[in-house]
Amino acid sequence: MGVQALQVIEQLSHLLEVEVLTANQNAELLIIQAKKFMPNAVVIGNEDAYEYVKQALWKDDIKVYAGSKAICEIIEMSTIDMVLSTIVGIAGLRSVYHAIEMGKPIALANKETLVVAGELITTIAQQKGVNLFPVDSEHSAIFQSLAGEFHNPIEKLIITASGGPFRGKSSDFLAHVSKEEALNHPNWNMGNKITIDSATMMNKGLEVIEAKWLFGVPVDQIEVVVHPQSIVHSLVQFKDGSIKAQLGLPDMKLPIQYALTFPHREFNDFPRFSFADYPKLTFESPDHANFPCLNLAYEASRQGGNRPCVLNAANEVAVEAFLQDKIAFTDIYKWIEKALSTIPFSSPQTIDEYLEVDEETRSFLKS
Ligand code: MG
Repeated sequence: MGVQALQVIEQLSHLLEVEVLTANQNAELLIIQAKKFMPNAVVIGNEDAYEYVKQALWKDDIKVYAGSKAICEIIEMSTIDMVLSTIVGIAGLRSVYHAIEMGKPIALANKETLVVAGELITTIAQQKGVNLFPVDSEHSAIFQSLAGEFHNPIEKLIITASGGPFRGKSSDFLAHVSKEEALNHPNWNMGNKITIDSATMMNKGLEVIEAKWLFGVPVDQIEVVVHPQSIVHSLVQFKDGSIKAQLGLPDMKLPIQYALTFPHREFNDFPRFSFADYPKLTFESPDHANFPCLNLAYEASRQGGNRPCVLNAANEVAVEAFLQDKIAFTDIYKWIEKALSTIPFSSPQTIDEYLEVDEETRSFLKS
């Protein structure tokens, strides 16, 4: 995602400038990108790579910092106008929270932040008058459909899902799929965690919860429809029954650009949609029996409190275990279910309390 964001910024270099770049582990790529975009500073999460990155960049007069704490603190720089958060998983929570505290607008690609602590995040964003601009393609589509309609009540949000690589498959089939098959997404080119989430449809469950917080719509007014071509990115139904949608090729660069340039649209030379390439757009209901993760997410969101946090932590652990060939694809659901039925309900009030629930869930599953 960060790489695609830089492709957007490269096209809009007359409008956008990279002030700080961060990376967790990939020092090589951080150095290459820093030399290209010439930020004021870079942060490498992995402290062992500090000397290496510093050696590579000192001649370019780019400041180098290291450690996950530094990623969080660098946001305080007064020269930063906007923060694009693309960290995957709950790892992004603290830095997003801190950026909002500092009054920085957020282009939010990290959906887990809102899934885990949506109430806390949206409350402080409101207090600080900070806008959260969605980068997730579905939420960007809803946001774009709402332009000029922000005061009109929403009757229903309709979030589209590609159905992932296993659409139409039975649970017997799913019990034996390999990690390579699961990582082979038909439309979108994304990181490993989100690609597995798409295959289980947990991604859509997380997006339903994300939409609830971004747009203030209860989950029972949010519907998921499977649309294998990934051209209609999502829809809003207003109270007069009218439905607005946003369409485009499945390419994350477009939602990233809209979040960075809102309310303006800027020219780019990304490929354009053609009806000739897509003579048929189809829609179907999700298969809840074979993809039960979606309902788990709905239920966790209805219950509130620490439930979405447990759901998210268990999902992160289970996906990691699947990617390491330790569990079967269909065990991902079973692990999340087990965590939800074991960890008791609570109502965290602070980021630290949410992180405690996250830790508790992880150690439970690892034991
Ligand atoms: Mg999405």
